[in-house]
Amino acid sequence: MRLPEPIARCPFCTSLYSGPDVRAVGKKHGNQISHATCSQCFRAMMFAVERRAGHVACVGVLTDCAVDEAMRFEKGQKISLDEVLKAHVELRK
Ligand SMILES: [Zn+2]
Repeated sequence: MRLPEPIARCPFCTSLYSGPDVRAVGKKHGNQISHATCSQCFRAMMFAVERRAGHVACVGVLTDCAVDEAMRFEKGQKISLDEVLKAHVELRK
């Protein structure tokens, strides 16, 4: 799967994520949660992508979770990507 342009590259080494590096973890309140592992530097990011009419907002957090752990987190509702997203939205005001 592909990520929108601002988060299509690894923030650490700027290499472009390739399709298999990126996995959809889940959806929350209409936000797509994705996990990406860089194939060059092997650092992992989690992204929340919000799509609304005419714009895409995204926020990324560094994670040391592997994708299967991230999925487990999402199911367990323990990870606070919602809060990260909320904080991000607050900061933009
Ligand atoms: Zn990288």
